[in-house]
Amino acid sequence: MSGNKLIKSGQNHNHLSSNPLPFKLVSREVKPNGTVLNIQGIQIGGSEVVVMAGPCAVESLEQLLTTAKAVQTSGARILRGGAFKPRKSPYSFQGLQEEGLKLLACVRQETGIPIITEVMDTRLIELVCAHADILQIGSRNMHNFALLKEVGLSRKPVLLKRGMSATIEEFLLAAEYILKQGNHQVILCERGIRTFETSTRNTLDLSAVPMIKRLSHLPVVVDPSHATGHWWMVPSLAKAAIAVGADGLLVEVHCNPQEALSDGSQSLRTDKFDLMMKDLVKIARAVGREITLQSPVQ
Ligand code: PEP
Ligand code: MN
Repeated sequence: MSGNKLIKSGQNHNHLSSNPLPFKLVSREVKPNGTVLNIQGIQIGGSEVVVMAGPCAVESLEQLLTTAKAVQTSGARILRGGAFKPRKSPYSFQGLQEEGLKLLACVRQETGIPIITEVMDTRLIELVCAHADILQIGSRNMHNFALLKEVGLSRKPVLLKRGMSATIEEFLLAAEYILKQGNHQVILCERGIRTFETSTRNTLDLSAVPMIKRLSHLPVVVDPSHATGHWWMVPSLAKAAIAVGADGLLVEVHCNPQEALSDGSQSLRTDKFDLMMKDLVKIARAVGREITLQSPVQ
């Protein structure tokens, strides 16, 4: 079934249940009330809007720990940080790799914050699983079916990012690969799609959030950092994402963005992230959700 037909069938209540959808396990029909994942006591898909924040790439213990402590104090519940980086050029910084994973584990030990990090290769799943609380599948790998099947065999929660030119149907079918292997702990992430527009890095498809929520029971988060490429746009689109029903956010934050080894231009400085979080609390409340800021911040 084409993406258009799928979306048309999604528009019609009567046809939603009678039309065979091209996906089964991810379909909202399977779980009309939606999936709530429990990751180290943090519920994703429930009433709380869960903010995952941290640097694009793990660079050093000092950078990671400083950023982690700051985002945690500001209300982030999960720390992001890439150890294996999918860079456009093979000459760019590729991440600290195994050393980066060890730093993430060390910072989790120190702060208690769970971590999400990307796995790019089936050969590295075991290693990444040994350190991460959530496996991230990046946009460039959404169509890597061998990787999807393999993380489907693991028992770690998976955050699957939408491919940069993937339709919603393709995105949901990629998630279906993971669930089909027995791993039902999947979070979907809208991170912007490629369009003709060049003033932003990608075009954030906010309409994907209510569409996916209608078609699937899986939690949906939004990454306003990769979606825009500009740190100053991140707070506006983070607010919009919560307003349209996102269950969480994935935000790049750096203690010193000007010195960042990757994606500095889209990374919020820790003080700006703190201000954004205070604003997001109000938006979450306005749409019947909540963001828990740690006392005494609140
Ligand atoms: C990331 O979140 O680190 C990343 C590389 O994002 P994407 O896969 O969406 O480009
Ligand atoms: Mn990045």
